[in-house]
Amino acid sequence: MSIFARSPADRVIVVGAGVAGLATALRLAPRPVTLITAAPLGAGTATGWAQGGIAAAMAADDAPSLHADDTLAAGAGLTEPDVALRVAEAGPGVIDWLVTLGTGFDREADGALALGLEAAHSRRRIVRARGDSTGRAVLDALVRASQATPSIEILVAGLHGLMQDADGRVCGVVCERDGVAFRLPARAVVLATGGVGALYASTTNPRGALGRGLLAAARAGAALRDLEFVQFHPTAIAAGRDPMPLATEALRGEGARLIDEFGAPVMAGIEGGDLAPRDVVARGIFQALGRGRTVSLDTRGRLGARMSQRFPTVAALCAEAGIDPAVQAIPVRPAAHYHMGGILVDEVGRSTVPGLWACGEVSSTGLHGANRLASNSLLEALAFAPRIAESIGDAPTLASMDRPVPLPEIRPEDAAVLSDIRGIMERDVGVVRDEAGLLQAVAHLTDLSERGSDAAATGLMIARAALDRRESRGAHWRSDYPGQLPARHSVVTPAAASALQELTDA
Ligand SMILES: Cc1cc2nc3c(=O)[nH]c(=O)nc-3n(C[C@H](O)[C@H](O)[C@H](O)COP(=O)(O)OP(=O)(O)OC[C@H]3O[C@@H](n4cnc5c(N)ncnc54)[C@H](O)[C@@H]3O)c2cc1C
Repeated sequence: MSIFARSPADRVIVVGAGVAGLATALRLAPRPVTLITAAPLGAGTATGWAQGGIAAAMAADDAPSLHADDTLAAGAGLTEPDVALRVAEAGPGVIDWLVTLGTGFDREADGALALGLEAAHSRRRIVRARGDSTGRAVLDALVRASQATPSIEILVAGLHGLMQDADGRVCGVVCERDGVAFRLPARAVVLATGGVGALYASTTNPRGALGRGLLAAARAGAALRDLEFVQFHPTAIAAGRDPMPLATEALRGEGARLIDEFGAPVMAGIEGGDLAPRDVVARGIFQALGRGRTVSLDTRGRLGARMSQRFPTVAALCAEAGIDPAVQAIPVRPAAHYHMGGILVDEVGRSTVPGLWACGEVSSTGLHGANRLASNSLLEALAFAPRIAESIGDAPTLASMDRPVPLPEIRPEDAAVLSDIRGIMERDVGVVRDEAGLLQAVAHLTDLSERGSDAAATGLMIARAALDRRESRGAHWRSDYPGQLPARHSVVTPAAASALQELTDA
């Protein structure tokens, strides 16, 4: 049956085909799912690029409570303890599920899972596949399983917005393909559109990570939480490519060191050194770069010689950039990598708008707080997917569609405007922020969003949230407010979203 012939009363729409979207679609089977993805299946996802792995308390000396403690410590006061524990408890189960789907995780000689160490984890608990190709291996397994599942139909199209009935319930999506908009009604919609890194000039994210799902949810009146918290990965490879390839944090877990051009350790004197939490390392590098230093990741010697075997993805990325990590240090700089903020959801992935769920990086579940612990994001999506599927359940929830939204004229994002936005976000809403820069960003982004740029409207929400948080916490660092206030989440409410709607409609 074609996608358009299928009854909307049956259909669940999942937007996004990374780990979050695919796992949700699979967990919903045998219920009919239309999976909408901007790029063909297997392409255009952050999931496919994940190098480190999936955090799960599998070792004899480990326990979900220890994993939850590490997650809480990284979250800098904004991680919800019950969410951290529930997700950590789900870890071993989701690894088993991926194994049943055919994911070939790396194993020791005795058959036990090989477990790696990453920054700010107190135990070896990073489950990986093909060295540093975990994301690709997981994505391949999920894609294969989805293609073999008759209840899942794939539609390559871009999400434009959400349809709502007279009561405000989400009852479908407005998409665009080849510049033409169309409606697709459904009884439930799950947004799994990933992060916002591509709003920044330096990023490890795919080009499509522009926060389109976030904006659609905001325009539908969904509450968004903690948008100011953008994680910058400390060690993106600075070799002139966009998006920037990543040198996984696991390299430092295996002994690589951050040095300047004189060979001096960049993290000397900073608590935690090379294995400090991501935000600390990112700021250490950013400040060294600001002092005119160049920063490199030193893998020379024993680690460099093992690179192609233990870290084949990084070795290949280095080779493409003409770097031999056995004899040369890898030039690095921080880059926008992960969005902790997102669509506020409850313990079963429900947003504050009926009919709308969110999974993966686009959501804010309460797990990551102000700073995501490495390798917790694939886990989060995999842990929430079955809960979302159960919550959507079988109940026919489609309300009447007596108010079909008018179809918009599709205007692609102007490349020059997007390039301006990326520069503004990088300079003024980046690793280190202050009021003057944020006010400047808000003014520029307001102007660009009034001229019709959706990317600017999304960047504006992040910049405003960063301006409003007058403290430094986790990944949000204000040079003018280095201290901390009592911990609180920031929430963009439906009222603020409707102000945004007026602004972007003007
Ligand atoms: C280089 C890199 C390495 C990483 N390493 C790790 C790691 O080792 N461990 C870990 O846990 N996490 C890691 N992360 C983070 C993790 O990969 C992501 O947070 C996670 O994969 C996000 O999954 P997702 O399904 O939410 O989004 P994605 O995998 O990014 O998928 C988003 C999907 O939404 C689609 N989409 C977006 N916009 C639209 C639209 N408008 N219309 C239709 N479809 C749309 C995209 O085409 C895509 O299919 C890494 C991230 C990067 C970038």
